[in-house]
Amino acid sequence: MAGSPQVGVLAYQGDVREHAHMLSLLGADVVLVRHPAELARVDGLVIPGGESSVIDKLTRMFGMLHPLRERIATGMPVYGTCAGLIMLADRIEGAAPGQQTIGGLDVTVQRNAFGAQAESFETTIDASVLGGAPLHAAFIRAPIVSEVGPAATAFLTLDDGRIVGVEQGNLMGTSFHPEVSGETRLHERFLARVRAVA
Ligand code: GLN
Repeated sequence: MAGSPQVGVLAYQGDVREHAHMLSLLGADVVLVRHPAELARVDGLVIPGGESSVIDKLTRMFGMLHPLRERIATGMPVYGTCAGLIMLADRIEGAAPGQQTIGGLDVTVQRNAFGAQAESFETTIDASVLGGAPLHAAFIRAPIVSEVGPAATAFLTLDDGRIVGVEQGNLMGTSFHPEVSGETRLHERFLARVRAVA
């Protein structure tokens, strides 16, 4: 029998520990990824929530932008939550000066889209696509997907139609943080992709 998949969490900033905990509970061997050598060891990667402009700066400082783009282009499954979704978007609105993304998802993401009054909130989202009960989601200064290009698919939306989950081949991004609400189905969906390529 094959061993547990090696799953990385990009560990510069943000809720790295919560993702690592969730992935371990689901049977993955977790590797904290900061350098190209660590990236080379993993079969899949989670990019956590946090502050995308900081994650961007550190990604470039550590020489990881091109290695990450290369692994994404050659099929490594990646799941980005919140700031992680921003890092995976091809286009962003409201970028910090000079902010870049890794890209890969043919979407436009608007940073801090819920505005000052409701920067953080929790809600339930229809999750029939995940086969089960609605999911309970925490939005923390969350982005929204404002445009989905032809290569990507919206798979989770709020009741008002705003898009909060997108997929494209090996990539998945959500505006919210399942790792803080104990929702396991998105990490399971990601891990199924990782097991398929590991
Ligand atoms: N507002 C943050 C950003 O733009 C994202 C917040 C989060 O990841 N919880 O990067």
